[in-house]
Amino acid sequence: MTASPPFQSSAGRRETLLAAIESRRDDLVALTRDLIGIPTINPPGNAYLEICEYLGKRLKSRGFTIEMIRAEGAPGDSDKYPRWNVIARREGAHPGECVHFNSHIDVVETGSGWTVDPFGGELKDGKVYGRGACDMKGGLAASIIAAEAFADTFPEFAGAIEISGTADEETGGYGGVAWLAEKGWFSPSRVQHVIIPEPLNKDRVCLGHRGVWWAEIETRGRIAHGSMPFLGDSAIRHMGAVLAEMEETLYPALAGRHTEMPVVPPQARQSSMNINSIHGGLPEPEPDFTGFPSAVVAHSARMVIDRRYLIEESGEGVRQEIVDVLERVKARRATFSYELRELWTVSPTMTEKDAPVVTAVSAAITEVLGLSPEYVVSPGTYDQKHIDRIGRMHNCIAYGPGILDLAHQPDEYVGVDDMIDSAKVMALALMRLLGAGSEI
Ligand SMILES: [Zn+2]
Repeated sequence: MTASPPFQSSAGRRETLLAAIESRRDDLVALTRDLIGIPTINPPGNAYLEICEYLGKRLKSRGFTIEMIRAEGAPGDSDKYPRWNVIARREGAHPGECVHFNSHIDVVETGSGWTVDPFGGELKDGKVYGRGACDMKGGLAASIIAAEAFADTFPEFAGAIEISGTADEETGGYGGVAWLAEKGWFSPSRVQHVIIPEPLNKDRVCLGHRGVWWAEIETRGRIAHGSMPFLGDSAIRHMGAVLAEMEETLYPALAGRHTEMPVVPPQARQSSMNINSIHGGLPEPEPDFTGFPSAVVAHSARMVIDRRYLIEESGEGVRQEIVDVLERVKARRATFSYELRELWTVSPTMTEKDAPVVTAVSAAITEVLGLSPEYVVSPGTYDQKHIDRIGRMHNCIAYGPGILDLAHQPDEYVGVDDMIDSAKVMALALMRLLGAGSEI
């Protein structure tokens, strides 16, 4: 006779874990409300220490070891507004891989139009309201509940779970994930799977984002009296010619360029370019200046462009296309001169659909929600760019509760059921990735 197996069946273990999440519903809501109550507005980067200490205290009491890391000297870091980050790690009983949940702790300013207290964490009709509820304190709370429930239910798991709360995602992530990746916290030797619980909806897996190329174009002229513009050379008219050329040739070309990336919304499945700003002529007067401008021909005009590009395009090709526009204008205008300054660039990234973290989360979505996940790509970048580029980790996705359209809006909220469902998905994904599927 053989002894009956000492373990539950894998289906039984799954049910036990899902019940453990369900039983923590009140804890999840309280945690989300607490996080919303810490006003981590960025800029300037307020209350980072407070929220990191809150997270550290909680996770320490749940068996995690805590590292508090200040990005000293990073952009925006000061004694008044220090860039604090927290990383918590809980080891399993056996060696294995590490799954890391990364959430940004900062939120954008509240703006106007709120009907609830933006930092009150009001619970109403199954939704928690407040700045950051959706983007992304609800996702952070869901990942904490998932990790705690998993590790408490299966303490014999293999590998490790990490949870980080990081600064400054809303302003580029240089005092947060970029800093940590530079210091080796996101390297394939210590972290193998990364899930970023940004609000992409509970049934979607976000594989990556489009690329970004920012540049400033300056056209030059010669200053003269405005009553005799023929004695000068207007940099603004030169810039106008650049804009006209863009409208005639560049914008139609961009609109015709489509991608295989499943970008949402679908209108972003093509190359795009925003004219971010234009300044020409005299500097803007101080707001309290009540006089008139002086009459001068503009000697300089500057335009900042924000070009979002596709995985099928190259950064060098994007740059060359702008150079070609400028050179065509130059060929037509005798006195045209320009300077092109590159400001910022991020390559597009898209994790493969058969990457382990994608297949684990996709299978968990099917188990919890009974449907196949939608694979999406973000039109704009988020911290995956640093994990991919600096950390050289390509097994990374964004997955979390919340409706993306609500991010940065007044009366932002996250649904409690959505947080519970996505916590279940995250916990089942941990089961798959950390060897708790059936045999531990
Ligand atoms: Zn976000």
